[in-house]
Amino acid sequence: MKAAVYHGQRDIRIESVPDPTPGPNDLVLKVGVCGICGTDLEEYTIGPLFIPDKGKPHPLTGKTLPVVMGHEFSGEVVEVGSGVTRFKPGDRVGPDILLTCGECYWCKRHQLALCPNQGALGLAGDGGLAEYCVVPEFMCIPLPNGMSWAAAAVAEPTSVAVRAVRRGQVTVGEKVAIFGGGAIGQLAAQASRVAGASEVYVVEPQANRRALAEQFGATATFDPKTGDPVEWLFEQTGIGPDVTIEAAGAPVAAPAAIDAVRPGGRAVIVGIPTGSVEFNFLQVVKGEKNVHGVISHVYDEDYKNAIWLLGEGRIQAEPLITRRIALDDVVTGGFDWLLNHQSDTLKIIVEPGA
Ligand SMILES: [Zn+2]
Ligand SMILES: [Zn+2]
Repeated sequence: MKAAVYHGQRDIRIESVPDPTPGPNDLVLKVGVCGICGTDLEEYTIGPLFIPDKGKPHPLTGKTLPVVMGHEFSGEVVEVGSGVTRFKPGDRVGPDILLTCGECYWCKRHQLALCPNQGALGLAGDGGLAEYCVVPEFMCIPLPNGMSWAAAAVAEPTSVAVRAVRRGQVTVGEKVAIFGGGAIGQLAAQASRVAGASEVYVVEPQANRRALAEQFGATATFDPKTGDPVEWLFEQTGIGPDVTIEAAGAPVAAPAAIDAVRPGGRAVIVGIPTGSVEFNFLQVVKGEKNVHGVISHVYDEDYKNAIWLLGEGRIQAEPLITRRIALDDVVTGGFDWLLNHQSDTLKIIVEPGA
């Protein structure tokens, strides 16, 4: 089969690799669609980061590079292992992609995102930027009838947004502010609405992303180049938002999200900080503020709900998709294109069957 294989920094090749075969509890999927995300782009430009380098096999998969990339994918079942009971050929499924050890302190408490041995398909093992992919049955969620491949491709980032909203305990009538209007921020704004937020504010420097947030139902948006978002949010809400969700990853955004949240409120940090900043914790103490980190997602808590919300159309995926490409075009039309168009691209999806 054809696959996009990561050989090292700036070295992704479209090449022919052996067709995958399922273990007893695995499915083989014919990949319908696979997204490319910021993590993939970092592997391309400054990696290997999460992809295990030569001589350092991943503890769960035993794999090192080269690996087939792609961790935001869905597909149709074409083959099942001998022990598979829930799926049959022809079923359309979305796989969560988080591999965990099942044995550590956190796995035993179903806090899978915290497993120190974790890895993801498409990084620690072969993923979905290919014609076919093997996935464990237990982490697969059936796609609702009529759900588009494009919507399914956004399920993985949506599950991160769902987790952020769950960690922030957003509930009916609350005011939520999102820092960052990238894919995760846009999805978190929509997920906050679904959870019952009465007002959703989005802080984002790019006009096209602010416009998209407004299309998705943001109450108001703010360009942080024009003033202080913390002051603006205070003016909008009177006391500060009940919940802030930092999805920008800019070093200044996490302190701003903590500054902005009202005393007693919840600040959720999802963006991966790209540097250090000074921060005075006095206001966290005085305001009894709660700060929650979010990494990854759990298949039966976050990913399952992401599929449900996308399938019901309560979260919209299609407007997030900037570009659709074929597998052959992954390097120039995907990774290189993303490098030159980071500001005006939200999501590129690859259709291996197209
Ligand atoms: Zn991703
Ligand atoms: Zn574990």
